[in-house]
Amino acid sequence: MRIVVIGGVAAGMSAASQAKRRAPSADVVVFERGGWISYASCGIPYNLIDPARTLDDLVVLQAEEARKDRGIDVRVRHEVLAIRPDRKVVEVRDLDQCAVREEPYDRLIVATGAAPVRPPLPGIDLPGVFVLRTLPEGAVLKRHLAESGPREAAILGGGYIGMEMAEALRRRGLAVTILERAEQILAGYHDEIARTALEELRRNEVRVQTGVSVAGIAQGTTPRLLVVQTDQGAVAADLVLVATGIRPDVALARAAGLKLGPSGAIAVDDRQRTNVPHVFAAGDCAEATHRVSGLPVWVPLGTTANKQGKIAGANAAGADERFAGIVGSAAFKLFDIEVGRTGLGMREVRELGLDAVASVSRHRTRGHSYPGSRTIRTVLFVERETGRLLGAQMAGGDAVAKRIDVFAAALQADMTVSEVEQLDLTYAPPFAPVYDPILIAAGVAMKDLAARKP
Ligand code: NAD
Repeated sequence: MRIVVIGGVAAGMSAASQAKRRAPSADVVVFERGGWISYASCGIPYNLIDPARTLDDLVVLQAEEARKDRGIDVRVRHEVLAIRPDRKVVEVRDLDQCAVREEPYDRLIVATGAAPVRPPLPGIDLPGVFVLRTLPEGAVLKRHLAESGPREAAILGGGYIGMEMAEALRRRGLAVTILERAEQILAGYHDEIARTALEELRRNEVRVQTGVSVAGIAQGTTPRLLVVQTDQGAVAADLVLVATGIRPDVALARAAGLKLGPSGAIAVDDRQRTNVPHVFAAGDCAEATHRVSGLPVWVPLGTTANKQGKIAGANAAGADERFAGIVGSAAFKLFDIEVGRTGLGMREVRELGLDAVASVSRHRTRGHSYPGSRTIRTVLFVERETGRLLGAQMAGGDAVAKRIDVFAAALQADMTVSEVEQLDLTYAPPFAPVYDPILIAAGVAMKDLAARKP
């Protein structure tokens, strides 16, 4: 049995490790075109904050260790050029020797990930313009920070990377301007939550321009200076970070006849099987079923990649395991606040034609008179007819991400807000008021539902 994995980061290495564990006698081969495998790309912004830290900190497993300790035949700097399902082979180029070879598989796992969208702007390839997704891209940016000493950064895109990198670059002492095309930053979030993030950015002297159209990037008056030209004027910067979203890397899959889903990512069933026999897909290149809508979606996030990879690896080795699906939970830190979401947002609610109420509440995070209490703002999306919780978003101080996890569990259990209000949650003054902001938010949603009954 020969199990071949394309891609050696989160989903790919989870798949390879699981396949080897389940079928120790199988030949498990991983082809990775980059030089690193199995690294924590989500940790890059935090690593960049500290000039003394090496990016090697983020590598969970070296190729050599994977070979020696786990018996996985990892081949870095090997790019798969084509999948030939009719003959069950992949065509692979050894990037150091330039040789192309055919490699057979019995089972194939596609874990090719996603790639940053680079808008086709004039000047997008100038030195000083960066994208940030992989460890090598992190290394290039870190070197630029150390060697060129940039002072002003412009970030194109006010999404997840825009937020995390605005903080990282401010902490490195740079002036930062975010240029966001949409009318608000954090496009998938309710405006109450986006406004909280905006206030936090401004409190930390990050300039934010929304509804801005970037026309191009030009060389400035000195070799290191760039000018980002927009319809709202020019922004000078000596570092431009392009964080305008990602797209699933499906070129190989598409060419091989793997079916893509409505999102453009690879369609998979709950066993991570594609439409092509013996071929599985997992991670940022693949869709997942959203448990709230029941529909296939593309929400590329780290934990999902690891879980899907594990299931693809087990099933490639002969098991019969199923991925439970996602509810779309994500969170990030922004200076002194946390922001998170789970479930559907208002846009998805509208797209699905659901009749829902968006219930906004604010509450303190600690017990009455206990010092250090902060504010959390919560938005719950609730189905009007049934009271079913559809989604939750929060921003503010103190354990927002972990409170979002409670809502994620509630979504997974298909709870109504009335059931959420009954949850037996912990209370002690350092952690929460008598009624946790979760319970308060559910209670406010119940009142909003009653007030807005048709
Ligand atoms: P994103 O989708 O979060 O945000 C991209 C933003 O760029 C959007 O707000 C969009 O309106 C804007 N945009 C698009 N084109 C533009 C243009 N030409 N000019 C100005 N703005 C433009 O994508 P991202 O920030 O690049 O992050 C990529 C992915 O990485 C995310 O989708 C997420 O999966 C993942 N990620 C997650 C986390 C987390 O969960 N904590 C952190 C970092 C990254």
